[in-house]
Amino acid sequence: MPLPEYIKKDYKRTRTMKGSWYLTSYKYKFNLSRIKEYLKGLKKGIILGLKCRSCNTVSFPPRLICGRCLVKPDQWVRLPETASVATGSANYDEEDKNREHPFPVIAVRQDGADTALIHNISEDVDFNSIYIGMPLKVVWAKERNGLYLDIDHYEPIEDPAIELNKKEGSVD
Ligand SMILES: [Zn+2]
Repeated sequence: MPLPEYIKKDYKRTRTMKGSWYLTSYKYKFNLSRIKEYLKGLKKGIILGLKCRSCNTVSFPPRLICGRCLVKPDQWVRLPETASVATGSANYDEEDKNREHPFPVIAVRQDGADTALIHNISEDVDFNSIYIGMPLKVVWAKERNGLYLDIDHYEPIEDPAIELNKKEGSVD
């Protein structure tokens, strides 16, 4: 992924943490009843965000408490299947000691939402072609069960802004 202009330095390596994290030793209770609407939507192939009446922030996936004004959002809004890359990072397999084969982990912002989620991008997408703002579209799982991964992954779609930039460039 090419660096955006505001990042001045290309750090070769930031921080490596050794050790293991046993997730199974954690217990966390999560009440699904308040996101039932969202899960039912996914099963039907409908994307629902949760809107805060107080500040109009739309979260997707839904957040049970608004991060901005700490009230409980209660207004479901239908969102389109389009989204864009909000940010991302290069990741490497443990076996890839020389870090030659980066693979992307991306945060996606669904169009109409103010929050982002970590998700997968089509495997055949060239790592270096991914950029912040890259338009994407939902690819549904073959079988939907009313779960987070009913959205199987996101695939890039044509970016109309690229054509605009080209035209602006040709004026010079
Ligand atoms: Zn709010």
